[in-house]
Amino acid sequence: MSHLTLGDVVAILEQHYPPATAEEWDAVGLVAGDPEQPVRSIALAVDPTEETAREALELGAGLLLTHHPLYLRGTSSVAATSPKGRVVHQLIRGGCGLYTAHTNADAAIDGVNEALADLIGLQGRRPIAPHEEGGTTGSGRIGELPEPMPLRTFAELVAQVLPATAQGIRVGGDLEAEVRTVALCGGAGDSLLGAVRELGADVYLTADLRHHPASEHLAEGKPYLVDATHWASEWPWLPRAAALLDEAARTRGATLEVHVSTRVTDPWALTVGGSTP
Ligand SMILES: [Zn+2]
Repeated sequence: MSHLTLGDVVAILEQHYPPATAEEWDAVGLVAGDPEQPVRSIALAVDPTEETAREALELGAGLLLTHHPLYLRGTSSVAATSPKGRVVHQLIRGGCGLYTAHTNADAAIDGVNEALADLIGLQGRRPIAPHEEGGTTGSGRIGELPEPMPLRTFAELVAQVLPATAQGIRVGGDLEAEVRTVALCGGAGDSLLGAVRELGADVYLTADLRHHPASEHLAEGKPYLVDATHWASEWPWLPRAAALLDEAARTRGATLEVHVSTRVTDPWALTVGGSTP
């Protein structure tokens, strides 16, 4: 069996997640690694942290593929005196590359929002903000549940299909009202609150919602809000990207192991004292 080079893997990834479809402010692509080096194993994680880098190295991975960029705003130092610099050192010392697919992975057909939509069985889905009129790629997704259900039941479904976290799922709105049209956006999605109301969604599933935008939004009615953690709402992309890399390697007759990290990289370790009045 042959193997892939890092350059081969980058080409596969860029076919599915074209860097040109990333937002202008984003920083996607190859962060570290030599395109000539062989890659026999890939680790996938939402965040490039010292812990996920260590996990990749323990597996002997030649590439760590993450959703979030390591340096979103650029830097003048990668010294091992900061956590990010230590990630760079750890990876290079261990012969492991780092590649980021962020807003280009959000928008794609094989992307973050499609993976999330699959988990809740969303039908007739389309982007909330398509890249082009009637197109299938773009920000967020909106579609219909196979059957209407009370908001409370929908939230329970979301809790069931997403990986468990300390926060769990927060729900805003009339818990007994029926919902069917669902808008969703993995990660922090408050910038789409206006768009999902205009599209007539019954409920909006996203993450990282804050007091003022959320309560001012709900004061005007639907869509109700279902708020997961940032990590949980983006994690479902990892198995999908892993399967795609596995399939691409097989097609090329190359051996490749893929490993999806299940380490929760949300900053929260615990919630206490929660109760529903
Ligand atoms: Zn994110």
